[in-house]
Amino acid sequence: MDFFKKNKHLMTAVCAAASLAVAGIAGKDFYDFRHYQEVIIPGPGVTRTFMLSDYNENLKGTFGDTTVYVMEGEREGGSFVILGGTHPNEPSGHMAAMTIVESGKVEAGTLYVIPRTDNSAFTHNDPQEGSPHFFHIDTKSGTREFVFGSRASNPIDQWPDPDVYTHSSGQTLSGSEMRNINRTYPGVKDGTMTEQISYAITNMINTLDIDMEMDLHEASPEYPTINATVAHERAMSMASMGILELQMAGVDMSLEPSPVSLHGLTHRELGDHTNTLALLMETGNPSQGRLHGKTSEDLILTGKDDYYMKAAAAGYLYIPYDENGAPLEMRVGRHLQGVQEYIRAFTDMYGAEKGEIVVSGLPSYEDLTSGGHRLGEYLN
Ligand SMILES: [Zn+2]
Repeated sequence: MDFFKKNKHLMTAVCAAASLAVAGIAGKDFYDFRHYQEVIIPGPGVTRTFMLSDYNENLKGTFGDTTVYVMEGEREGGSFVILGGTHPNEPSGHMAAMTIVESGKVEAGTLYVIPRTDNSAFTHNDPQEGSPHFFHIDTKSGTREFVFGSRASNPIDQWPDPDVYTHSSGQTLSGSEMRNINRTYPGVKDGTMTEQISYAITNMINTLDIDMEMDLHEASPEYPTINATVAHERAMSMASMGILELQMAGVDMSLEPSPVSLHGLTHRELGDHTNTLALLMETGNPSQGRLHGKTSEDLILTGKDDYYMKAAAAGYLYIPYDENGAPLEMRVGRHLQGVQEYIRAFTDMYGAEKGEIVVSGLPSYEDLTSGGHRLGEYLN
């Protein structure tokens, strides 16, 4: 005790140095993750790219800007934009979009694919979740690292959150939802970064007159809107056709109308503020729910969790769930089968009027589940 009293200044200096070291290590971790460059290896189907900031110059040079991959067919036809990575803690949407960019081929029409829709949300994790920064997949070029990010934009890019977030429709939500891009559509040109991104997407769809749009999501297994397609009213009949085909392909999918009074979401606002046919798909992601154990890379990839097994036995889950978990491959397979069925439904219903969309090279649901193929075979 005497030692500490006598050496008060020395102890203060030691404690200050120790805290600086901890802050330095944590700070470097935050900095490295924020600046991490995720590798995307476009396949031969990609004919050109542009930056989303072409549709809102306010995004230029910011963490909100993101690459749009364009895949043009030899034959002209309809157009389709696919949004992956709206919520970077929902990896099947992100990975389905990556797979399209790396393996898809367009025979007719044009695809616009955005694998990192809210790029800012890929630059951090949700606090207090203990989430890993990355997950790994064995691909054609070896083991690759993919980012597991946050549901919301990085607060460094827009701070502080208001107490209440008031959307342009007058809808009010808790303040942190202002960083959830799927509550900010149709967006605001010079608003917060998240509103600037959603504005750019709305403006891109209007300017390029894109016929069809799909936003790829996941939700917790205990959330009722799951293994579902949500469709804007103008897209309902096309979605019904697609769902029948999905059932035939072994993919159970419910169809839900976009609620008219729920604002800020792609399936509502892109349908209302553009001419596009707006759809959103959800798969069940155990790493995202509230009931699981440790958030690990294994949980992200396999979806296996003992607590979810108990919840399933007690009847609390909205997806089929057993000891096989809910593997990322199966969830990406659902999204890719959905993308392909809705493209066929679009061509059947609107091909004569707007032009066909024909895509090849993508795995089916069966390929990625019982078919013995791995997701990594479709990543370069
Ligand atoms: Zn989501």
